[in-house]
Amino acid sequence: MHLNLPDEAATMRLGAALAASRPRPAVVYLHGDLGAGKSTLARALLRACGVTGAVRSPTYTLVEPYRLDDGVDGFHLDLYRIGAADELEFLGLDALAEQSGLWLIEWPERGAGALPTADLDVRLRVRGDGREASLTAGSATGAAWLDRLSENRHLQDIHVDDFK
Ligand code: ADP
Ligand code: MG
Repeated sequence: MHLNLPDEAATMRLGAALAASRPRPAVVYLHGDLGAGKSTLARALLRACGVTGAVRSPTYTLVEPYRLDDGVDGFHLDLYRIGAADELEFLGLDALAEQSGLWLIEWPERGAGALPTADLDVRLRVRGDGREASLTAGSATGAAWLDRLSENRHLQDIHVDDFK
């Protein structure tokens, strides 16, 4: 699924749509360069899951835990500062990864092998003044999620095309 996100509001709409159609549990990998909009998307998604307090970027803490409105645990990770996946073991994140819930993981390639497998891979890219997003399923759960998402009327005007 390919989306054009002309402004920050569109990124936030995508986050809300992902939250509304989310499976439980769900693992999302957020790919993209610094400034691509990964944290913006994660923040909108968490807000739409009922998180009301501050949603901080886990740049230094690596992981920020949340309790979502349906009682499910949410984990927002930013692994930018991780050099190799074995550092995750050192930090105790490998044990954490056994917990089910909603996982939003920025820079997942830096934790390869130590993370739960992705249901959805989201790739964000700068395009002009805006961003573009490519969403691909990593599991049957993720494929069903994308099907529900493609029916969301709030995304229709930014939905470019489907490519497989
Ligand atoms: P990342 O976590 O990928 O480093 P951030 O989410 O911190 O990126 O976003 C960086 C900047 O991009 C923020 O200032 C945010 O407002 C902006 N941004 C997010 N989505 C869009 C968009 N679709 N169009 C333009 N700017 C956006
Ligand atoms: Mg970020």
